[in-house]
Amino acid sequence: MNSTANLTDLTRKLAASGARLVAVSKTHTPEEILLLYQAGQRLFGENRVQELQDKQVALPADIEWHLIGHLQRNKVRFIAPFVAMIHSVDSERLLEEIDRQAQKAGRVIPVLLQVHIAAEETKFGWSPEELQAWIGSEAWKKYAHIAICGLMGMATFTDNTVQVRAEFQRLRHLFDRIKQEAFAVKPEFRELSMGMSADYEIALEEGATLVRIGSLLFGERSDAVKA
Ligand SMILES: *Cc1c(COP(=O)(O)O)cnc(C)c1O
Repeated sequence: MNSTANLTDLTRKLAASGARLVAVSKTHTPEEILLLYQAGQRLFGENRVQELQDKQVALPADIEWHLIGHLQRNKVRFIAPFVAMIHSVDSERLLEEIDRQAQKAGRVIPVLLQVHIAAEETKFGWSPEELQAWIGSEAWKKYAHIAICGLMGMATFTDNTVQVRAEFQRLRHLFDRIKQEAFAVKPEFRELSMGMSADYEIALEEGATLVRIGSLLFGERSDAVKA
């Protein structure tokens, strides 16, 4: 199948859940992205700042660009003027810098806090315990140019669906607890970004509101192994 047929198929599968599709376009050309744009997709995700900047200037202005990959503080300023959401906020120092650059750009930037739910050591993110303690400290309240919109996580890369489901459930429970304890009166705190090509169906069953899907749409990437 080609990417537009894949998009139709996925959009149909997502419709019942109400979750939104983040079309992960990393490594793919502006021409490939434009095909999906012409088929109606407006929300795209990239994991590198330089690539995101290049594509943002080359493609239609009404694309909603999400940064889904690890973000270094010294690169925040390049995307602050336009990025629609940053999924990968994994420290207070990064949050501080996003707040500073958002203020300069005269905006409020929507962010998700990335939680480490996988068994692998290499993935970024807060531990659930760290995050709960930090939310409890109310330190996040001082950032006037950030909207904390929810949580993001990546499950372990494994065929063990029982494990993957348990990790998504843990993230969902953390989301519910934080929502109740700190964001009950904040309607913007409503996003749970979880699920990729291999595990998005489980993520949807466990309450994902944003699924980040690349290879199932565009085909396998040449960098698929290290991505
Ligand atoms: C690449 C990437 C995805 C999409 O991966 P696929 O397996 O191609 O769907 C999702 N989330 C993040 C953070 C990524 O870097």
